[in-house]
Amino acid sequence: MKLVDNYNRIHDYVRISLIDKCNLNCIYCNPSNYHIKFEKNKSILSYEELYRLIKILVRDLEVKKIRFTGGEPLIRKDVMKLFEMIYPLKKEFNFETGITTNGTHLSDKLESLHYHGIDKLNISLDTLNKKRFFSITGKDCFDDTLNSIRKAISVGFKSVKINVVVIKNINDDELNDFVEYFKSFPVTVRFIEYMPFTGNRWDDSKLLSWREIKSRIEQKYSLTEIESKGKVSKDYFVNGTNLKIGFISSISDHFCDSCSRLRITAKGQIKNCLFSSPSEFSLKTLLANQLVSDEVIADYIKEPLQSKWLKHPGADELTQMNQNNMMNIGG
Ligand code: SAM
Repeated sequence: MKLVDNYNRIHDYVRISLIDKCNLNCIYCNPSNYHIKFEKNKSILSYEELYRLIKILVRDLEVKKIRFTGGEPLIRKDVMKLFEMIYPLKKEFNFETGITTNGTHLSDKLESLHYHGIDKLNISLDTLNKKRFFSITGKDCFDDTLNSIRKAISVGFKSVKINVVVIKNINDDELNDFVEYFKSFPVTVRFIEYMPFTGNRWDDSKLLSWREIKSRIEQKYSLTEIESKGKVSKDYFVNGTNLKIGFISSISDHFCDSCSRLRITAKGQIKNCLFSSPSEFSLKTLLANQLVSDEVIADYIKEPLQSKWLKHPGADELTQMNQNNMMNIGG
C-alpha cells in the first residue's frame, strides 16, 4: 500500500525530525531573537515510538528512503541507540537511510553510523570562513564541521553532500570558493535558495536564484548537466574535477510536480509539505498504545496526503503565512 496523494504523486521518502532543538542559531533558520517554544523531551517521539513508526513506513507503506533531521538530530541524547535499533529493520526491508546534520557532533559517530547502515550524509556548511561561520551560526564550531566533512568522505558513505544556503551579501561571494575547496573530493555541494520562514527576516533582495548562482559558477568552471528528472536538485558535474554540484530551487522554480516527500515532526505531527501546517493530531499517542493496530496508524499517516496542495505558495504568500521555521519542522 503506497502513500499516494490526490495528484498521484507517490510518497516513498519520509523525513523524520528527531528533535526540535539545535545547538546553532543560524540567521536564516533559528535567529536568536526568535523565541521558539521547545517541546519538552517527553512530548517528542521516543526511540521505541520511532522504531514502530519506521517499521510501519517501510513494511506497510512502501517507503524506500528515510532521512533523519531536526533541529540537530545528533545532539539528541543516546541517538546512536536509535540507529542500532533500526539496523535490523534496514536489513529486512532494504530501505535507504540518511541524516541531515550541521556536523558539529558528527565526527566521533561516523564509523558507528556507517557500521549501522546509514547510507547518506548531508552536512550543512554555509561558509569556508571561520569568522563568518560564527556570524552566521552564533557558534564557534567551524573546525568541527569541516573536520567532520573531511572524515566523512574517508569513511565510505554512499553519498556525502554539503548543503549551502545562499544569501545575498552574506555568503554569495563564496560560491566559487566552495567549488575550489571541494573540487578534488567525491562529494556534491548543493546550493540552496534562501527560503522564507517565520522570524527569519527573508526578503527577495536577499534571494539569489539558482540560475544566478549557476551563472556565477560558470564564469569560472564549465558544467555538464546530470539527468535529474524527478529529483529535488538540479545536478551538474564540474568538468575536470571529482565534484558534483546541485541547485535546490524551491523559491524560483519549485519542483512540487515530482514531490515524493512527507515530513514527520519531532512531536509526531505529519506535514505533507515543508510549507504546510502540521497535522493537528500527533502520531505519538497512537504509536505509544500497543492496543492500536499498525493498520490504524498507517491509515492516519495516509490521511494528510489527501489535502496536499499541487504546488506550494509563492515567496510573497509564504512571507505572510505564520509558519514554523525549518528547525521546528524538521528541515
Ligand atoms: N541541523 C541540521 C542541519 O543543519 O543540517 C538539520 C536541520 S536544518 C533545518 C536542515 C537544512 O535546512 C539545512 O541544510 C539548513 O541549511 C536548511 N535551511 C534551514 N533554514 C533554511 C532557509 N530559510 N532556507 C533554506 N534552507 C534552510
